[in-house]
Amino acid sequence: MEQSYDLMQYIIKHDPNAITVLDKHLRYIYVSERFLKDYKLEEKDIIGKYHYEAFPDIPEKWRESHRRALNGEVTRSEEDYYEKADGSVEYTRWECRPWYLPNQEIGGIVLYTEVITERKQAEKHLQESRERYRQLFDNSPVVIWEEDLSQVREHLNRLKRQHKDLEVFFVNNPKEVINCFAKMKIVDVNDYSLDFYGAPSKAYLIEHAHQLFTQRAINNYIRILKAVADRKLYFRMEHETNTFNQGIKNVIIEIRIPEKYKETLTRVYVTTTDITKQKKTEEALRESETKFRTLFEGQSAIQLILDPETGMIVDANQAAADFYGWSVDTLKRMNVGDLRAHPSKKTLIELKKAIENGKAYFEFNNKRADGTFVDVEVFSSLVIIDGKKMIHNIVHDITEKKRAEREIVIAKEQALAASKAKSEFLANMSHELRTPLNAIIGFSELLHDTALDSTQKKYADIIVNAGESLLSIINDILDFSKIEANKLELFPEKLSLTQLIEDTLNLIRFKAYERGNRLFEELSGDIPKYVVADLNRLKQILLNLIGNAVKFTEKGTVTIKVHTLSIDSANQRVSLRFCVQDTGIGIREENREKIFEAFNQEDYSITRKFGGTGLGLAITNRLLHMMSSALTFESEEGKGSTFCFNLTLPFENE
Ligand code: ADP
Repeated sequence: MEQSYDLMQYIIKHDPNAITVLDKHLRYIYVSERFLKDYKLEEKDIIGKYHYEAFPDIPEKWRESHRRALNGEVTRSEEDYYEKADGSVEYTRWECRPWYLPNQEIGGIVLYTEVITERKQAEKHLQESRERYRQLFDNSPVVIWEEDLSQVREHLNRLKRQHKDLEVFFVNNPKEVINCFAKMKIVDVNDYSLDFYGAPSKAYLIEHAHQLFTQRAINNYIRILKAVADRKLYFRMEHETNTFNQGIKNVIIEIRIPEKYKETLTRVYVTTTDITKQKKTEEALRESETKFRTLFEGQSAIQLILDPETGMIVDANQAAADFYGWSVDTLKRMNVGDLRAHPSKKTLIELKKAIENGKAYFEFNNKRADGTFVDVEVFSSLVIIDGKKMIHNIVHDITEKKRAEREIVIAKEQALAASKAKSEFLANMSHELRTPLNAIIGFSELLHDTALDSTQKKYADIIVNAGESLLSIINDILDFSKIEANKLELFPEKLSLTQLIEDTLNLIRFKAYERGNRLFEELSGDIPKYVVADLNRLKQILLNLIGNAVKFTEKGTVTIKVHTLSIDSANQRVSLRFCVQDTGIGIREENREKIFEAFNQEDYSITRKFGGTGLGLAITNRLLHMMSSALTFESEEGKGSTFCFNLTLPFENE
């Protein structure tokens, strides 16, 4: 007994489980080391001790088991837990059974306990992680399928043995491709797949997966099978798939053998990512790219695309190649500065300016492959190509335009110089002519007053008259050329208008009388007493108009009219209207335009009849122009003419 006691103690002590043997008062008799270890106890502290004293927090349910064991009952639990004094929960697996004395009486109880907290936790973690993965699997925004490849692999192996080139075999037997795919067993699909394919349920999707096959992509399906046959662990490609309700989608499919199946290669994860939108955008981009390419390349306008950083020609169209004489490829290796007639570093700086302002205009002198020079105008604008700032240049050949411009400038300069020289010559000539002429007139008058017979007197008169008319012509020419040469100046002075008109009429009175004309003047009463104007020039204007009126009227009337249009007292200025009206021959409709032109008369028959140079009205009008006015007239052939002009002049009443 003693020996068996020791043996028992030995067996219990070293049992790998936590074992406690209690007497019927629940005092410790034997404990296994595992028990001590699990509950962090020492043997010497425990033997003989009362169980509930060692574990005061033993729950009632267990105390109940102890009581039942003492009554001969066995209780156990595969998984139980109790809350420890520190609040943590310990999971256990236990058994509580009585032990018997040789006399069959119950000697006490044996407790087998196993702390399973760690295992429990591991299980919990595993469960959680499984759930997490499931969530990920179901909710990820890509289609994930798990497929069993065992059958298809066997089938492929068989085919491989029969056909040297599997690919060729599949190409020739497209039905076999579908047959192979039918052998791929879909094990699981994630929730997202339902949305993606428009399937009502996973079961439906798995059952009808063959409908997702598109005939068009048969070559892709062959590639997939080939990857499987070649025992690839990973395979990826662009692909397309049908759906149940959304038509064909562009996708990227990735096939991956999970770690666990790397040996057998019997399972795969197939992920399918939707790239329909990207594809559409790419397609649209390609289309617009092609469109713009065609526009750019086919355009007859010369176009260059430049890199603003380097000035390099990034692109050029055929029109540019034709124009410059270098091929498109050569142009693409050139810098825009190389196109300048005198290669210039400034080109780049100017181009950068284009970048800043978005748009710019230049004129350059360019050089062509054959060494000839061309003038070009360049319309530069900023464009973004592939996210990079570029300069788009449209080039126009303006060589002809430039040449014409240059010629016009030269011709204009020459004409101006010639006209000025002519006016200067005339001014000088007139001056030179007047001096001897004055002598001729003066001495003829003196001669006239000497003792001459009547014939001689008549000849002297003719010389004086001819001299005076020649002088008048020369004066006109002098005035005209002075005005043309911008040498004529106005000298305004205070003058009496009534006096001026009176003096002017007096000069013409005799001539009017000779031609049987009557002279009238109509001056309104509100004409200021004095005005400020160039007396001689104003007299010249009036004399010209009245002179013409008298000249072109016979036995009629000539009336000079002056009336006030407005008076600005504050600024002491008066606006006056002058008109010279006659009842003469009038001016023919078709000649109205030309009578203001220098040296132009209505027609030559009139010249012969009435004399004159055709300068009078031209001078009058130019003088009026200098006084900020202009001549107008109304005329009716055979009835008479009225020439008018307005003048705004300073006035004084005292
Ligand atoms: P001219 O020295 O020949 O008179 P003008 O320049 O004074 O030169 O006039 C140009 C022409 O205009 C005249 O030749 C004449 O044909 C026409 N003309 C000018 N004034 C009158 C007028 N009052 N009546 C008719 N014809 C006129």
